[in-house]
Amino acid sequence: MEDKLTQLKQIFGEIADLNAAAALLSWDQNTYMPPGAAESRGQQLATLAKLAHIKSTSPEVGKLLDDLMPWALDKNAQNDEDFDARLVIVAARDYEKATRVPPEFVAEMAQVTSRAFEAWVEAKGKSDFAIFRPHLEKIVEMNQRFVNFFPPADHPYDVLLDQYEPGMKTADVKAIFDALRPQQVALIKAISERPQVDDSCLRQHFPEKDQWEFGLEVARAIGYDFTRGRQDKSPHPFTTSFGADDVRITTRVDENFFNTMFFGTLHETGHALYEQGMHSYIKRTPLEGGASLAIHESQSRLWENLVGRSRPFWEHFYPKLQQRFPAQLGSVSLDTFYKAINKVQPSLIRVEADEATYNLHIMLRLELEIAMIEGAVAIKDLPEIWNAKMQDYLGITPPNDAKGVLQDVHWSNGMLGYFSTYALGNLISAQLWERFQQFVPELEDQIRQGEFSPLLSWLRVKIHQVGRSYEPQDLMMRVTKSKIDPAPYLRYLTRKYSEIYGI
Ligand code: ZN
Repeated sequence: MEDKLTQLKQIFGEIADLNAAAALLSWDQNTYMPPGAAESRGQQLATLAKLAHIKSTSPEVGKLLDDLMPWALDKNAQNDEDFDARLVIVAARDYEKATRVPPEFVAEMAQVTSRAFEAWVEAKGKSDFAIFRPHLEKIVEMNQRFVNFFPPADHPYDVLLDQYEPGMKTADVKAIFDALRPQQVALIKAISERPQVDDSCLRQHFPEKDQWEFGLEVARAIGYDFTRGRQDKSPHPFTTSFGADDVRITTRVDENFFNTMFFGTLHETGHALYEQGMHSYIKRTPLEGGASLAIHESQSRLWENLVGRSRPFWEHFYPKLQQRFPAQLGSVSLDTFYKAINKVQPSLIRVEADEATYNLHIMLRLELEIAMIEGAVAIKDLPEIWNAKMQDYLGITPPNDAKGVLQDVHWSNGMLGYFSTYALGNLISAQLWERFQQFVPELEDQIRQGEFSPLLSWLRVKIHQVGRSYEPQDLMMRVTKSKIDPAPYLRYLTRKYSEIYGI
């Protein structure tokens, strides 16, 4: 068995290298690549994707997994934390899914999305949905074809969701959202009836260089290891990993609004901490990476919001921020600043939405995606439907496509089924926070003193190190003794905003 396991790991190592090379090309495409290279970059990515797919779906891998499975199940029954046993079990599940998708399809998808991404950049720049429309039509059609490679599910959207949130069903997500929606809407209404918060202190001129350096200082303080990472600029911030030893983040800068870059950086740092925290034993194996996108998002949201928008965090960092921006913030009190960064106001852009309204942006996208997959909407009508839903849910209408239907990069990357993981990530972040506080009630004092390592160490052991060893709901059971549950998040929101708005 040892020989077969070694052989399997050898192949997985090579696949991981191909995927890392593709991720590096894709990082370059999103940061420094000249636009003229789009076509050839598409070909390069398609070739790498095809090679990785052929390798990971080869009969040789299938045979090795079959041979190793009885041994792995036995070992797992004795100890369900054994990485080798988990590797075989998780890889077999991946193999079963991947062998359903022909390599020609994978290559075609890579090429379609490479062109679609360039079109999306142009369409967003010109705020003209018509430029992106034919690409999105193609992407929806490809996603429908993708669904048909799998056995019929309760809903076709289940197949798309399962790529990002293994084991999760469309009906489960709808049930969670149905529980959330009325309470979030009630909270927003209660807030709207109170005197509003003034956030003008954030809307001053903050020079890019100082914003950049402050962001890096905080990222470093909470644990991001820059000997194994870096930060660059891109139109849509993201984190990418080429293995735990090279995990990069990107950000965008708005010199006239403090939140865009700072909280973007904290958010991506949360993702990067997760990737940098993978156990060295699972390096270059399919266990390396996030358990799911919602678990990934829980890490970014935890650092961005539970930590980064808390009063104790700013009791520590605000004097440093004032030193960096004395003209802008020298005479602004901590209390004014704290309320400003937590201002609740229905707004157009999801990534800049406050915690109280954020999930409503997600619910809108989930409904549109389900309708697209069902063929219940014509793509040409999307901008109009988007705007109407924004008006329904948040009481505002985007003035143009760039601030409406074109704002997110996801569809141009071919990804449908992704958005609900953001809202689930919010819920998980609050669940993990409550759980950690049961062990460490002095968490807020630690943060006030700029001590982040107890929290990070706990996340490392419970979440980061095990990578993809467990499906998200299983992982949540192991760590919090509960499946994904909206209650802690609602408790957190209510407590926080009651204090800020005096509800
Ligand atoms: Zn994120």
